[in-house]
Amino acid sequence: MNDHQDLNAYRWQILASRTRNPQYPFCYAVVTTGIVCRPGCPSRLPNPENVRFFDNCQDALKAGYRPCKRCHPLDDNKEPSELVVRVCRQIERDPDQANLNTLASVLGYTPAHLQKTFRQQIGITPFDYARALRQQRIYRELGHSRSNTDALLQAGYQSSSQFYTEFKQFSSLPPGSHRQSGKGEILTFAVADTTLGALVVAASDKGLCWISLGDDPHAQVEELQRHFARAEFCPPDEAFNQWVSQVTGLVEAPGERLSIPLDIRGTVFQRQVWEALRKIPMGSTMDYQALADKIGKPGGARAVASACAANVLAVAIPCHRIVRRDGSLSGYRWGVERKADLLAREKGQGMGN
Ligand SMILES: [Zn+2]
Repeated sequence: MNDHQDLNAYRWQILASRTRNPQYPFCYAVVTTGIVCRPGCPSRLPNPENVRFFDNCQDALKAGYRPCKRCHPLDDNKEPSELVVRVCRQIERDPDQANLNTLASVLGYTPAHLQKTFRQQIGITPFDYARALRQQRIYRELGHSRSNTDALLQAGYQSSSQFYTEFKQFSSLPPGSHRQSGKGEILTFAVADTTLGALVVAASDKGLCWISLGDDPHAQVEELQRHFARAEFCPPDEAFNQWVSQVTGLVEAPGERLSIPLDIRGTVFQRQVWEALRKIPMGSTMDYQALADKIGKPGGARAVASACAANVLAVAIPCHRIVRRDGSLSGYRWGVERKADLLAREKGQGMGN
């Protein structure tokens, strides 16, 4: 790897973690849209292969990219106008009642002018801003409410259907699962390449909490962010990069011992299953029923299967060592071909020893 690739890898981590104002500023252009953005732009995370990095926005413009209308990469220190600040405050006071016509008449402007000015300076419409505030409020309420109904009533929703409609727009998880999903946490994460595809690793201050393998690092990072929807993500430091290389090593040689703490989150039953998985020796397999017997739940083969499927720590919790009774591979969250590959690697390792 040369310095240039290192720099771009570093910039990609910053970009994917949605960090604003990084220590070493840069711009990124998206080939497919022809637009240049600054880090922290709220637009969709682009596919890494479509991203071109520039030291500054002017260079990107010279290369033919247009500045993004959402993150305004050109005007660094431009503050929103007094009018726009007033509209923001008004919406923040009561996002449920934020209505373009009302706001415009209160402030003495036409709705069209207000909409255009607001969008130019903030990057989104007043309506989107109000909706974003309502969604933020839902997240806050879900953090300390006992039920979804409490949460949505506190968030000012008239009906639960309105709540679910808006919720679905920014989440693929059912509302209940957000209450514990990384609230107030800071997770470090990184993307790496392995011979089994893209690796996404994340850790809390307690240890590794996410390892995924796949073909699309972009989709994998989004899945991670959805899973820990309330967490903040930050790019890796030197120490974390060493963890990432250990995990990469584990993927390449899945029988190796991992000397990194795991931050395992799940129900009592799931943790029991995962603990049992970690005791299956490298190179051997077990079927669902045998594992259910082992943890003293002979009727629980199906529950064991769903606990295996809920594992979010690929390879570190070796759910790839679970197969059907007839020896066929059954499913694998990260692709059944990868499962076959991991098992073959373990066999190879065993013979080498
Ligand atoms: Zn942008």
